[in-house]
Amino acid sequence: MNIPYGRQEITPADIDAVVEVLHSDFLTQGPMVPRFEQSVALYCGTKYAIAVNSATSALHIACLALDVGPGDLVWTSSITFVASANCARYCGADVDFVDIDSRTYNMSVASLTEKLVRAAAAGRLPKVVIPVHLCGQPCEMEAIHSLSQRYGFHIIEDASHAIGGRYQGEPIGNGRYSDITVFSFHPVKIITTGEGGMALTNDPELAKRMACLRSHGITRDTAEMTQPPDGPWYYQQVELGFNYRMTDLQAALGLSQRQRLDEYVAKRHVIAARYDELLKDLPVTTPWQHADSYSGFHLYVIRLQLNDIKISHQEVFECLRAAGIGVNLHYIPVYRQPYYARLGFNQADFTQAENYYAEAISLPMYPGLREEQQSEVVQRLSALIGHQTLFPKRETLT
Ligand SMILES: *Cc1c(COP(=O)(O)O)cnc(C)c1O
Repeated sequence: MNIPYGRQEITPADIDAVVEVLHSDFLTQGPMVPRFEQSVALYCGTKYAIAVNSATSALHIACLALDVGPGDLVWTSSITFVASANCARYCGADVDFVDIDSRTYNMSVASLTEKLVRAAAAGRLPKVVIPVHLCGQPCEMEAIHSLSQRYGFHIIEDASHAIGGRYQGEPIGNGRYSDITVFSFHPVKIITTGEGGMALTNDPELAKRMACLRSHGITRDTAEMTQPPDGPWYYQQVELGFNYRMTDLQAALGLSQRQRLDEYVAKRHVIAARYDELLKDLPVTTPWQHADSYSGFHLYVIRLQLNDIKISHQEVFECLRAAGIGVNLHYIPVYRQPYYARLGFNQADFTQAENYYAEAISLPMYPGLREEQQSEVVQRLSALIGHQTLFPKRETLT
């Protein structure tokens, strides 16, 4: 694609930071991982941060730390990446989905409330709910948190899109309304470590458990051991963990990228505001923002007003892709994936998610997107669906 939907930015400072680690004593398990963790924890105002090799791993150990297991139920949003649901399946738990809000495309608080009332009556309440801050816009966490108090579930925020965003003026990830928050550092996300993720919490027990699960279930803390150490070499594997560690090479890149986080999110807001303006006369719905939200703007999703457009959603997609514009669709409703469909979901239960899936298109959005590229995206789209030409050709101007 000439213009992808998302793209990392790597600066000379990033490269220097990684090269410095290559020359150092530790490529992994050195000083950079804790430094990156402290940097993100400080930025978010959270007590503990556990860096791992992906957000998927972070979601997995977050579920395990909350004792999710066979017989338990985990709910997440119907419009998300599959990893938000898979983490529960890794633990042997069952998954169910909540329909989305028609304006924010996040988990709908009204649908969640109704579903909880029914689940309470049936005696089958979720153990964990995983709201996903889609596109970087925070979910209505205060309301979801108060439902968690009433119905007794835990909350993991899947903030893979949302680092650098704010909810009610406070950093996403601060844990005010959840047990654990997860970030992703995949290259299309807001800051990157190549592959990588992080789990944040204010609970020392959850932090300890996740740190242990990240590295084989091994502890070197004598207080956690079943007996005094045999000698100075001693460690104990106290549960079944994984190798989910982040390397120092990755953490150095992350730490360097972290310095530009606010700048990146501000740039994304400028791009979003310009799209809002350029698209305002086209038959599309631009992203609506809740008053409590300062989005990370990982994605800029428009919805086609298909009644006012002569060609199909798919045709718009195909034409833009053919023109070298890397539009995408975030996401296919998870219950439609064959793996989940086999578990028996009914599309009719997710009206808003189905409507969204029929109309949504992610336009290119990343800090390095240049104005003329953005104009080209809108010009191509306008030529396909516009009532009039937004950018008249030179000859029509005379
Ligand atoms: C990207 C993403 C993940 C997974 O992130 P990785 O770091 O690639 O494992 C999980 N949830 C959502 C919503 C995502 O967008």
